[in-house]
Amino acid sequence: MSAPAANLRIDPDRLWATVMDTAKIGGTEKGGICRLTLTDLDRQVRDWFVAACREAGCAVTIDDMGNIFARRPGRDNSLKPIAIGSHLDTQPTGGKFDGVIGVLAGLEVLRTLNDAGFETNAPIEVIDWTNEEGSRFAPAMLSSGVFAGAFDRDYAYARTDREGKSFGAELARIGYRGETPCGAHRLAAHFELHIEQGPILEAEGRSIGIVTGVQGMRWYEVTVTGSESHAGSTPMPLRKDALLAASRMVVAVNAVALAHAPDAVATVGLLESRPNSRNVIPGAVFFTIDLRHPSDAVLAAMEADTEAALRGIAAASGIDVGIERVWDSPAVRFDADCVAAVRDAAAGAGHPAREIVSGAGHDSAYIARVAPTTMIFVPCEKGLSHNEAERAEPAHVAAGAEVLLRAVLATDQRLADQARAG
Ligand SMILES: [Zn+2]
Repeated sequence: MSAPAANLRIDPDRLWATVMDTAKIGGTEKGGICRLTLTDLDRQVRDWFVAACREAGCAVTIDDMGNIFARRPGRDNSLKPIAIGSHLDTQPTGGKFDGVIGVLAGLEVLRTLNDAGFETNAPIEVIDWTNEEGSRFAPAMLSSGVFAGAFDRDYAYARTDREGKSFGAELARIGYRGETPCGAHRLAAHFELHIEQGPILEAEGRSIGIVTGVQGMRWYEVTVTGSESHAGSTPMPLRKDALLAASRMVVAVNAVALAHAPDAVATVGLLESRPNSRNVIPGAVFFTIDLRHPSDAVLAAMEADTEAALRGIAAASGIDVGIERVWDSPAVRFDADCVAAVRDAAAGAGHPAREIVSGAGHDSAYIARVAPTTMIFVPCEKGLSHNEAERAEPAHVAAGAEVLLRAVLATDQRLADQARAG
């Protein structure tokens, strides 16, 4: 006997226990996790995940980037699966929740469907994406990137860690280089539950973030060239002080973000002054700029404003400035139907929610290029993540999993209705 979808409830205690149990694999003394991708600890958590999914009646396939797909059959197995994906790898001093709850809530959804004997129309898949963190092998989101065609597989295989070990060799070593070509596998939709990694939901007392997209991001490297000279014998009007000019530029970068409030952010996070000597007027400064905004058009305007401001300061100071854009990651807008499914699920379950744009990158940002995708955020204490002290409330993790379950089932129903009508 199959229960109606609206009556299904995830088991919050089972989900929390699973999060706490698996956190022991690579668990740190300070209560976090160190589970770098493609290490023996990563293999251990993968082995656990594969076994748990098989126990839940799933067929498990692994692609040639080590992405794991656990499939629970539906009524019509010729349909593309509805996927729930995130990552089990962590930062070297990572927390228990980042990525992990996305995969384990997926497992909880499978277990809930099994307990109720509920049959979906399309198959449901839970996915562990390899190397989301990018800490051991840069760049981040490497395997979802290959899946979406942003990187090619051989480029990924050639990435090396600081000991010179390659991604391809380590993937084979831990036994997770599968047969299926990465990306050949098609998805009907992709949902990802994740901690917010920011302070907004907690500050507003909301338990669910309806994620409408990922903001665009551009990185720049700036070189300011003045003239080194003696700090005592060079009169003020005759100086070409690169650090003084760079300081004005840092203030100008901040002003660009404020001029595009409230959604713009701009950061100078790294600055090097040369020769960095107390009695020499700085002759050269290198610094970086990180600009972010949910709209590519606004981001382009921020870039133009930044460039104009920096060139104006350089001209007024009689020094040279070189500005190079080194990375451009366009804004991502998540699928309107998937976003609506999350909004309705949060309302149906009675969880206070708000729309939010992700400030950080996620596997879903790449998967959105090849499948209708969205994310669900839950609050984390003080917005803290990539930290062993990262913490999420059990009630929030449960709320996120409940919304995930409802959104996936609603999407399954919607796609079935569309197929029937179409
Ligand atoms: Zn993550």
